Amino acid sequence: MHVSVVLFTADLRLHDHPPLRAACDGGGRVVPLFVRDRAVDAAGFAVPNRLAFLADCLRDLDAGLRARGGRLVVRSGDVVEEVCRVAAEADADEVHMAADVSAYARAREGRLRRALEGAGRRLHVHETVTTVVPPGAVTPAASDHFAVFTPYLRQWSRLSPRPVLAAPRALRVPDGVRSGPLPDRAALAGSAGLSPGLARGGEAEGRRRLAAWLRGPVARYEDRHDDLAGDATSRLSPHLHFGTLSPGEVVHRARRAGGPGAESFVRQLAWRDFHRQLLAARPAVSTADYRTRHDRWRTGPGAEADAAAWRAGRTGFPLVDAGLRQLRHEGWMHNRARLLTASFLTKTLYVDWRVGARHFLSLLVDGDVANNQLNWQWVAGTGTDSRPHRVLNPVVQARRYDPDGAYVRRWVPELAGASGRAVHEPWTLPDRERAGLGYPAPVIGLAEGLARFREARGLT
Ligand code: FAD
Repeated sequence: MHVSVVLFTADLRLHDHPPLRAACDGGGRVVPLFVRDRAVDAAGFAVPNRLAFLADCLRDLDAGLRARGGRLVVRSGDVVEEVCRVAAEADADEVHMAADVSAYARAREGRLRRALEGAGRRLHVHETVTTVVPPGAVTPAASDHFAVFTPYLRQWSRLSPRPVLAAPRALRVPDGVRSGPLPDRAALAGSAGLSPGLARGGEAEGRRRLAAWLRGPVARYEDRHDDLAGDATSRLSPHLHFGTLSPGEVVHRARRAGGPGAESFVRQLAWRDFHRQLLAARPAVSTADYRTRHDRWRTGPGAEADAAAWRAGRTGFPLVDAGLRQLRHEGWMHNRARLLTASFLTKTLYVDWRVGARHFLSLLVDGDVANNQLNWQWVAGTGTDSRPHRVLNPVVQARRYDPDGAYVRRWVPELAGASGRAVHEPWTLPDRERAGLGYPAPVIGLAEGLARFREARGLT
């Protein structure tokens, strides 16, 4: 009897899953496997918000497999050793898994291939599982990757994602393969860093959200995606990060929904692939500047105190603080707030983008090396933005994207009763009124921050 192992990584779903489909089409028995990877834990990526979401995803995946006659095998430890051990226990001929882009994922693939081949087994690595278009599938004439989004998008948009694969109807797991316990979100209750408003994970939940999004709200995405209080984006990012939704299926279904809102939404998905093709070509950008601006970021007690105020959402700039408090409460932040909070840290406070990226990764449920590090670099001006020295002004941003202050009032309770201009500029209130709010004074004057940044970048 032919036996295959399917290693699930960032693709925790049954629908549109080429490795699972290939294993099932082989006609033999299949071992669906997830390994809680010790190296991911050791690198600090296993933070409570993502672990809780992951627990939901694994339980849902197990339920989906059981409904089809199978089950999920869960192990923990060194991923290569565990896959080899399971393959030996099941007497498997081959292992299927998805390609991924980080330096770690590629090293893992190489190690796994060598270990399996040494034991007489094959490794099949499938593309277009975690991206719509594989990294390297579209390249400019003179380089191995695109450094500018617009020409990338032009080529990306011409390609159609491969047809969506149905979930398998049935599968059988060979006897004798033991599994560790499924993780449980409840076990994380009370952990520091677990956000009380964290979304639910799992493929069923992802598909429900996608269907609801495409049934209505997507139509207004183009006009409303920057409306902070309107919450008018899909919130599908954690599902795309954990692969409970297939990015290719999302694109197919959004294109079928049609209209300017859906088109604009699909363009956002191209950013995901754009950052992945960049990380695949230049793995060092997860920690090093893609384009150095020779920054000598602030360090020392003053910078540390500013960064601490920023992390706590107590900078004294209401829209910045609202974003950071949303992050802490939900493990997610609106894109417009991510842009502003990142600009404020790197440009107004002139603190290293890596400090902010680390904080985001400690909380974001969608926290992702490619998207997080490269968006941080984009904002800091060390990445692919064609206007690397632009500085977002929190008051101007507030007037534009939170005109009646509803987003600030939701996340900054000290300002819940503030009216008119005071909600975004509490420093304009008379001293006595301001003192009664219990809200901090600004950590810096905006003009001062701008002047320091311009000088640091040699723009004066
Ligand atoms: P929608 O507006 O509904 O967009 C649909 C999908 O498109 C998103 O789910 C996401 O997968 C993709 N997308 C949208 N914008 C971007 C973008 N700028 N870059 C890459 N993909 C995008 N996104 C992450 O998934 N993980 C991160 O760790 C992450 N860190 C970020 C850090 C900073 C400093 C900034 C400015 C942005 C970051 N983003 C990150 C991108 C973006 O903010 C989120 O993808 C988006 O807010 C998720 O919400 P949504 O699903 O409602 O997005």
